[in-house]
Amino acid sequence: MTILLMVLFFIVGALVGSFINVVADRLPAGKSIISPPSHCVECQHPISARDNIPIVSYLCLRGHCRNCGATIPRRLLWVELGTALLFAFLYWHYGLSWETAFVAFYCCLFISFLLIDLERSILPNKLVYPGIVIALVIASMGSIFGFEPNDIIGGGFRLWIVDAAIGGGIGFLLLLLPALLYRGGMGWGDIKLAALIGFVTGFPLVILAMFFAVIAGGLTAAILLLLKLKGRKDAIPFGPFLSLAAMATLFWGKDVLDWLMITFAVK
Ligand SMILES: [Zn+2]
Repeated sequence: MTILLMVLFFIVGALVGSFINVVADRLPAGKSIISPPSHCVECQHPISARDNIPIVSYLCLRGHCRNCGATIPRRLLWVELGTALLFAFLYWHYGLSWETAFVAFYCCLFISFLLIDLERSILPNKLVYPGIVIALVIASMGSIFGFEPNDIIGGGFRLWIVDAAIGGGIGFLLLLLPALLYRGGMGWGDIKLAALIGFVTGFPLVILAMFFAVIAGGLTAAILLLLKLKGRKDAIPFGPFLSLAAMATLFWGKDVLDWLMITFAVK
């Protein structure tokens, strides 16, 4: 049963990944994510159902359009496969629960930010604002019905909406200060995404998320500089690191926080 459900989560994840690809391609370009149906970007030929199966079709077609032979971006395969594995992981980590649904939704949002910021260096408001509204609605519902996913909030004020509101404020301020002090490094998009992450993870996990993002971003920048893949003046988008850090915090933030509390004997 467990294996069967894990396979089911994998398949659903692959389908969701296919949708994330559409969002990442069309939303920043101001196009509708619903119509027209999938088509080849080169020859505009509509993609038939048999060529639109996540992962499988890309492999069968060896990454080329059946009609004109144009190369299909490899990102489509990686995102479908990555999201499929992530969904299987979510089931393994959380089991069948409401928490799985919340975290899966937030992961899809963060993967979209990661892709769009990597490819276009923007974090669209059209995703950030609805994300904040949904995070606040979920936190409010949780507070009303006394529902508190332990892995999402850690040791805060024990009322999800309070944790979320404080988390959002702290996320916003933590990135606003460096953005004001060192002009050019951080953009408004990063600051708004940090606020969204705060609303999602709540207080105090938001601090951990920002810490993870800075460490990951700093290490990556150092490696890119050492390997001379990037120069000192090149901008490296921070959104992908914020997105990855937010997901890591959702999965393991509570454990890290518990470990810190025990290690440093904070009661
Ligand atoms: Zn084509």
